[in-house]
Amino acid sequence: MTAAALSHRLCGLGLDITLIESAEIGTVGVGEATLPQIRYFNQALGIDETELMAATSATIKLGIQFCDWGRIGDSYFHPFGAYGDTIGPADFHHYWVRQASRSGCEPFGNFSFPIVAAEAGKFDLPGPQNEDGPTAYSYAFQFDASLYAAFLGRFAQQRGVRRLEGKIVSAALDGENGFIRSVSLESGETFGADLFIDCSGFRGVLIEQELKTGYEDWSKFLPNNRAYAVPCEMKGPLSPYTRATAREAGWQWRIPLQHRVGNGHVYCDSYISDQDALDQLMTTLEGKPLAEPKQLFFATGKRRKMWSRNCVAIGLSGGFLEPLESTSIDLIQSGIDNLVALFPEQECAVSDADEYNRLMDAEYARIRDFLMLHYVANQREDSPMWRDFRESQMPDSLAAKIDAFKSRGLVPDFTQGLFLAPSWLSVFIGQNVMPETWDPRAGMMPKQELETKLGQVSATIRKGVDAMRTHSRFIAESGAAFQPPEAGQRQ
Ligand SMILES: Cc1cc2nc3c(=O)[nH]c(=O)nc-3n(C[C@H](O)[C@H](O)[C@H](O)COP(=O)(O)OP(=O)(O)OC[C@H]3O[C@@H](n4cnc5c(N)ncnc54)[C@H](O)[C@@H]3O)c2cc1C
Repeated sequence: MTAAALSHRLCGLGLDITLIESAEIGTVGVGEATLPQIRYFNQALGIDETELMAATSATIKLGIQFCDWGRIGDSYFHPFGAYGDTIGPADFHHYWVRQASRSGCEPFGNFSFPIVAAEAGKFDLPGPQNEDGPTAYSYAFQFDASLYAAFLGRFAQQRGVRRLEGKIVSAALDGENGFIRSVSLESGETFGADLFIDCSGFRGVLIEQELKTGYEDWSKFLPNNRAYAVPCEMKGPLSPYTRATAREAGWQWRIPLQHRVGNGHVYCDSYISDQDALDQLMTTLEGKPLAEPKQLFFATGKRRKMWSRNCVAIGLSGGFLEPLESTSIDLIQSGIDNLVALFPEQECAVSDADEYNRLMDAEYARIRDFLMLHYVANQREDSPMWRDFRESQMPDSLAAKIDAFKSRGLVPDFTQGLFLAPSWLSVFIGQNVMPETWDPRAGMMPKQELETKLGQVSATIRKGVDAMRTHSRFIAESGAAFQPPEAGQRQ
């Protein structure tokens, strides 16, 4: 992603970009669910979505379905789109909260177009008529990340990026300012450069092994530290969403691609053995496994400085916050966007690095808070992990956010915050965190008028969804790498 974006977006600067990677080491090999922002990344590179979908075996993602998170048996969606419509001066959710305080109110999800579409297995590209109002929505992709990397690799090489196969074994640092002057490969070759971008994954070959930048460990906030991942045959529906099911000591993902389903069990090793975690995954697969399960180890957190001297860490070398909301590829994108905006002319300036680190730190902290909300807002009593996570010590920023919602239904937006009010509302309401009261302006609407307006909003959404194609048909007609049968035939 980095090489592709820099070669395209900075093409007028006459940069000489070399990508060094080692097939022997390989990639982490997971990461299939994305966020809608990836579409802007692709658009900025002029990539055709249909071509991309075919090349990466992609399906559509309208959001994430969370099962068993608040309490066992609960289910809610975090959709890519807002809830409801403007029905008065207060934000829509205040009206719903007022109505929900009485019995007989429709579920909050019925007021979200992407949720109703996801549940119905429907998808069509949003048009100008979906830019505003109750039918507004966005979408992302579920794809094979290795195929995406290969696709972008070809893209980058077509734009002059030189790709070298080889293992970096050491770096030479400048004696005065500690900048990296060159890297050496196992083969003995040496490469010098002005700027080094460390995309070496968890190893942090340059940012950590050479520059010893340090890691801010956030395990006390996000304790999950291991995962097993395995693809399997698809037996369930080709659903336009990712599923995250809470388990006794972690959670399990289901990500349907065109030709297979990606599955993984993310867990905390203090609460479950590796064998039990693996067994839970393998016994709950919907179809035959298509590969040996792969175990991954991580510590949630981020590098103390993502830009240090003349080295910028992008991707897992910069940090990892666990995959619950599919934020890693998006953080790569933010890293690239910020680097493009602050790209050094010659020598790297400390002020540019400081600004880059400030932006990325804020982004990581906001995502950390949002992820942590899923764990602290639980009422499960079935296992020690859920009881302990509920009692975890929170960062002040998250505690403030929860207080604002609980007391008055407020969701303050933070700058550099990836997740906006609709996302927070999904998790709050989905995990049974309800405000004590609502915006007084929502209380001014007469009861009958409120009921009628809410009914109109959900009816408009249902009508819009009824008119959509099924997700399977959409895939078959635009961007199919394979021709999947209709969702109904799979069940
Ligand atoms: C369990 C799990 C689930 C995930 N799920 C998602 C998800 O659903 N959505 C999402 O957005 N993200 C997800 N991620 C994160 C996602 O996998 C990564 O963000 C993405 O794969 C990019 O990784 P990377 O390129 O930073 O590192 P890697 O994939 O590890 O790539 C590192 C590269 O550096 C090269 N390299 C390393 N050392 C050297 C060396 N010494 N010399 C030369 N080359 C070297 C390797 O060959 C490789 O090409 C998940 C991560 C995990 C652990």
